[in-house]
Amino acid sequence: VKTTKNKIYILVIVIVLVVSLTAGLAYFLYSKNQDRGGLYAVVTVDGEEYERIDLSRVGEPYDRTIETEWGYNILHVENGSISVTDADCTGHDCVEMGTLTSPGYLIVCLPHRMVITIESEGEE
Ligand SMILES: [Zn+2]
Repeated sequence: VKTTKNKIYILVIVIVLVVSLTAGLAYFLYSKNQDRGGLYAVVTVDGEEYERIDLSRVGEPYDRTIETEWGYNILHVENGSISVTDADCTGHDCVEMGTLTSPGYLIVCLPHRMVITIESEGEE
């Protein structure tokens, strides 16, 4: 009786190990694919795409000025993230919106009709 019980325990442990290893591997491959897919910051002004910045291939961080008839916004671009560090809009909402690092978040500058969103190629 004892031997059978031990065998069942070993079997359960093996199954748990295999399942968690498979899940871990699947997650690892999934996140690897996400990384390879690339991350883009898409800047739109007045509803039109103004600029597309590849955030997955940024070496040294740099600043990019977006200047339109409504004003300017200074974007700080780093590997995997983008933020607005300065602008001549009223309220500075866009500056206070912080840093974008993943899809689903956005920075809006209403007075300048500017929207920054993050897109990931791996999601499609
Ligand atoms: Zn603004």
